[in-house]
Amino acid sequence: MAGDHVNVYPVKGYSITVCLDDARSREHAPWASLLDDRAKIVTSRLGADRFRVAGTAELNGFNRDIRADRIALLVEWTRRYFPEVSTARVIPWSGLRPMLPSMLPKVGQGRRPGVFYNTGHGHLGWTLSAATAELVAQAVLRKWPGKPVQSPLRRRQAWRAAKRCSERRVPRMKHDAGNVRYQPIAAPSLRGSCPPSKHPFG
Ligand SMILES: Cc1cc2nc3c(=O)[nH]c(=O)nc-3n(C[C@H](O)[C@H](O)[C@H](O)COP(=O)(O)OP(=O)(O)OC[C@H]3O[C@@H](n4cnc5c(N)ncnc54)[C@H](O)[C@@H]3O)c2cc1C
Repeated sequence: MAGDHVNVYPVKGYSITVCLDDARSREHAPWASLLDDRAKIVTSRLGADRFRVAGTAELNGFNRDIRADRIALLVEWTRRYFPEVSTARVIPWSGLRPMLPSMLPKVGQGRRPGVFYNTGHGHLGWTLSAATAELVAQAVLRKWPGKPVQSPLRRRQAWRAAKRCSERRVPRMKHDAGNVRYQPIAAPSLRGSCPPSKHPFG
């Protein structure tokens, strides 16, 4: 309809959220994010009492059923590598990842005027989202120079800085028309004046 053939296909993935209900499980669940390249399983610690384990690439159309055998593999993996972590209570989930056969996202201008794409990120939707949003913003700017576009990456950085700092210590941002990047007007001693973030990722 928009003039392009975008061959996106849903690739189903599964996750379990392991509830770390007892002190022993909380102590032994890892804080670092892990990637088991052979099993194609990734993990994330979600705060003190949750541990997420995700994986699987199932080609089954738009079907969102949660298959018990897929979940069992994730539970087994957790038990194998983290025997001290109790899997008595896990929350299963499935989700569809939009993916292209090349496994690369489609980003940029389409054939028709005013059509831009930012889709098909597959397994790495979250990881790539800020960078591809910038690319799309730049493509829009090239098409309509002079229209200010706020970079989502810069906006997020500014938001984090604002969260860390109280009162007026956040640098105010300005931009020149046509320039996608925001420049801090003044960033005096931002690090020195703010307490360090307690969040593990800053
Ligand atoms: C199993 C699995 C593992 C993944 N692992 C990784 C990984 O390791 N690294 C990575 O970078 N990416 C990963 N991804 C991809 C990543 O999760 C997605 O790219 C990302 O979550 C997309 O974010 P989003 O905000 O665009 O959409 P979503 O996270 O899907 O958020 C959309 C939200 O909108 C809500 N919503 C939808 N329709 C409506 C409506 N009509 N009204 C109100 N609310 C609505 C939904 O409920 C949802 O909460 C994985 C995906 C899956 C499925």
